[in-house]
Amino acid sequence: MREILYKVPVSSPPNIWQTPLADLRGIGPERAAQLQRLELRCVGDLLLHRPRRYEDRRHFHAIAELKLEEAALTCGRIVAAGLNRYRHGARSVYEFILDDGTARLHCRWWNLPFMEKYFSVGDNVVVFGRPNSLKPRTMDHPETEVVPEEGAENSIHLNRIVPIYPLTEGLPQRWLRSLLWRTVAQFAPGVPEPHPEIPLTNERLILPLADSANPQSALSSVALAKEEIRPPSPSLRRVNNPQSIPCPSRAHALQLLHFPEESSDAEIARQRLAFDEYIELQRALRLRRKKLEARARPLPCAGDHNRLIKPFLAGLGFQLTASQTRVLREIRRDMAGPAPMRRLLQGDVGSGKTVVAACAMLMALECGADAALMAPTEILAEQHAQNFRRWLEPLGVRVEILTGSRKTVAPGAGAPAAAKVYIGTHALLEESFAPARLGLVIIDEQHKFGVAQREQLVRKGSYPHLLVMTATPIPRTLGLTFYGDLDISVIEQGPPGRGRVKTFLRPQESLPKVWAFLREKIAQGRQAYVIYSRVEDADSSARVKAATREWHLMEKVFAPWKAALLHGRLKSEEKEKVMAAFRANQTQVLLATSVVEVGVDVPNATLMVIENAEQFGLAQLHQLRGRIGRGAEESYCILIAQDKSPESRERLKTMAETTDGFRIAEADLKLRGAGDLLGREQSGAPHFRFGDLATDAPLIERARALVKAAL
Ligand code: ADP
Ligand code: MG
Repeated sequence: MREILYKVPVSSPPNIWQTPLADLRGIGPERAAQLQRLELRCVGDLLLHRPRRYEDRRHFHAIAELKLEEAALTCGRIVAAGLNRYRHGARSVYEFILDDGTARLHCRWWNLPFMEKYFSVGDNVVVFGRPNSLKPRTMDHPETEVVPEEGAENSIHLNRIVPIYPLTEGLPQRWLRSLLWRTVAQFAPGVPEPHPEIPLTNERLILPLADSANPQSALSSVALAKEEIRPPSPSLRRVNNPQSIPCPSRAHALQLLHFPEESSDAEIARQRLAFDEYIELQRALRLRRKKLEARARPLPCAGDHNRLIKPFLAGLGFQLTASQTRVLREIRRDMAGPAPMRRLLQGDVGSGKTVVAACAMLMALECGADAALMAPTEILAEQHAQNFRRWLEPLGVRVEILTGSRKTVAPGAGAPAAAKVYIGTHALLEESFAPARLGLVIIDEQHKFGVAQREQLVRKGSYPHLLVMTATPIPRTLGLTFYGDLDISVIEQGPPGRGRVKTFLRPQESLPKVWAFLREKIAQGRQAYVIYSRVEDADSSARVKAATREWHLMEKVFAPWKAALLHGRLKSEEKEKVMAAFRANQTQVLLATSVVEVGVDVPNATLMVIENAEQFGLAQLHQLRGRIGRGAEESYCILIAQDKSPESRERLKTMAETTDGFRIAEADLKLRGAGDLLGREQSGAPHFRFGDLATDAPLIERARALVKAAL
């Protein structure tokens, strides 16, 4: 994906974009090598070299007004400097004292004796940093730049908003800035629009209103957001007073990116360049989809809506919800079409995706095609197999299971007459699994699989239809980028008559009360999960509890009720036995690791205690909690946490406040960034240089619409 994104097409004659940097005046072999270390090889790379942040050098903080621990930009003259070595010269501190007429500031560097070379008494220096003391005023390891008061290039480095670039060893900030100044002036105006068929200059960008009282803060809130200032609350940075601005040309955006005139220019530039990235991505996804539609001829799988589905629904014991019915209509329409279905089914934990999967499979079966469902764990595959046998075997449908430990023989080309349902784990990816008439492939809990695995499965047979199910509540923005090549169906509402899930946050010390509460509920017939982040002790510090060690304790705590242990290191048959006993309410308490995170469905289990909740990510906690709240009874989730870093506090607070998967996903997106949310490498998620998925929803949707209209 990376190549697609950054290879920006350039119109032919003045092929300035690809001009090697070594050909530019003022760049010798040494500088060229340094630039290459930053992956800057040609003019285009340089023009897209994004400033790490900006400094508004039209306004400096007076040293006298610096505040403790608040990042600030200041400027003054060095009045004294010196290097102190101690411990036989092994350690050192270099220090200079800066005076701006209002007060003095000590700037110190520990164990970097060579800093001495860069400064002299009398130098005029711009300093950016965070005072770590006010008595005397001191900054440790600030960022600095010596700026001669009467420099020839001062219009570049002073009295304006200046870019601060990522550097590499030996490359001075000032030199790189001057190079960019020349390169932007010479080349940026000639940069063409990357997609002439999709003009953006009539589009508008939405900007947060600048804080006019304090331009430095307005600038920093935009430019520093990524690394310096993390929003204190997980709620999305809401735009209170949005301001609509005409979208600049790409040429203009590049100028604004490097040398903004106003504090909002950098954000305008970022948005325009992000827009290009989103258009490029949507275009690539759309073209891929078109190619598939042109060449692939799937089996018709829409079914006859009669032979199997009718009796199945009649025997189910509940009515499908309106959401489930609508999604099934969408699936049926796709599977009747001339191109293979490529659909994502999004539905929060417990929303009832499995029944939808069963109906989709029956449609395929009614047409005489086989259907396969892949689940990420054996526990889940077993559970699905049990459900599907219970549901489908009375209708005369054969359900085969294929997991690492259990393999019914997969039929080869000489396929049997009756169509079949296959349920399995990764074992379905093996070559030996090759049903002759595979019409539909369903992947449950997509976030546990990679894109590559998905592709492997849909290459079996002749382009089967694909339904991908996920409970990871992806914010819409992410859905449009991560799954941009899939159509999206959403189950908005779970089945009616569900008890609420109440979530509480408790310290270790409350555990006796928590266990007493669980025993009381178990006595009323309920079951409970107790979740640990570890199977065994990694170290003996015992700060984090481990399932195997707690088990014996817990058996006593819950006696006479039965407790069992479930974790990933058990043998498959063992896991099955434990799950079966829990499902049948022969055991009342399941001590488990996150192996129960996905899919497990035991409606009578309404209690969950998560030990060391601070060890889990937000998405994982949501998945875990999704195991309860599946029956009519009220459910209780109790998070036990001890180490409360601000970030884990934020996470746990979000969990206590809401059960809405989408809100949780948005908070997670803010806290962790998009890459981590779905496991970037695994999911094949695109990397953006300018795009910020947490804030760019409107841009992404617009890009999608524009590409759709143009192609
Ligand atoms: P998920 O979307 O997390 O995979 P499941 O498919 O496991 O959720 O469904 C959760 C529970 O809800 C199951 O016990 C299922 O039988 C039940 N269920 C599904 N659809 C309905 C419905 N329309 N009415 C009542 N219960 C339903
Ligand atoms: Mg499920």
